[in-house]
Amino acid sequence: MFRQHIDTAPIWEAYGTECECPLCLLRAQCEASYVENFLGASVMEPAVRMEVNEKGFCREHLKMLYDTGNRLGLALMADTHLQECIRRLKEKPPTARRSFRGRTKPDTLVGDCILCARLDNTMERYLETLLYMWKKEPGFRESFKKSRGLCFPHYEALRDMAPTKMGRDGEAFLAALYEVTLTNMERMEEELNWFTQKFDYRNRDKPWGTSADAVERALTKLRGGGPVPKKE
Ligand SMILES: [Zn+2]
Ligand SMILES: [Zn+2]
Repeated sequence: MFRQHIDTAPIWEAYGTECECPLCLLRAQCEASYVENFLGASVMEPAVRMEVNEKGFCREHLKMLYDTGNRLGLALMADTHLQECIRRLKEKPPTARRSFRGRTKPDTLVGDCILCARLDNTMERYLETLLYMWKKEPGFRESFKKSRGLCFPHYEALRDMAPTKMGRDGEAFLAALYEVTLTNMERMEEELNWFTQKFDYRNRDKPWGTSADAVERALTKLRGGGPVPKKE
């Protein structure tokens, strides 16, 4: 039922860190290390270079690669990728003739991002590992229950994966997942609501409580993404 699962330690670690979604935290950590890697050792690996030349990166990951400050590394990658794109562009000049009759997908130079693909793959394995841990690992159910829940995208990803992976434990897991999600979404809403009320002059002198960074945390809750630094 479970594929060979990966190390459970990173999940334990993420669950030991206070955050609005441990899976988003894990994803952000993997993402940072992949980005670092792509411009480090990978630049010279022929297999990786070929894949980059072929596919390239999405806008968000190009920006992250740029933000590492390694302009030469990025230029080396971008140069050969651009060469490959130009080669393909020359191969197929556009035509108004409807020779494909909609049967084939139109050619695109804006392909899937390698970094996104690797991250999706890793996260899928982490989701499976989490389900495995909930089933087998002593103490994990308790940590899961006491956590601050998950973001909506990871709630849905686990919800959709559980029925095929959990067997007899499926119902129990879904109930636990639902409870921790609903409880914490309501908690988040209250914090966010108090944040808005603090702008009312009558509440000016009342304490912020936990609401001072509610906006930043709500961003993660709604659509996922790593921790957002608070704006002063
Ligand atoms: Zn998440
Ligand atoms: Zn990407």
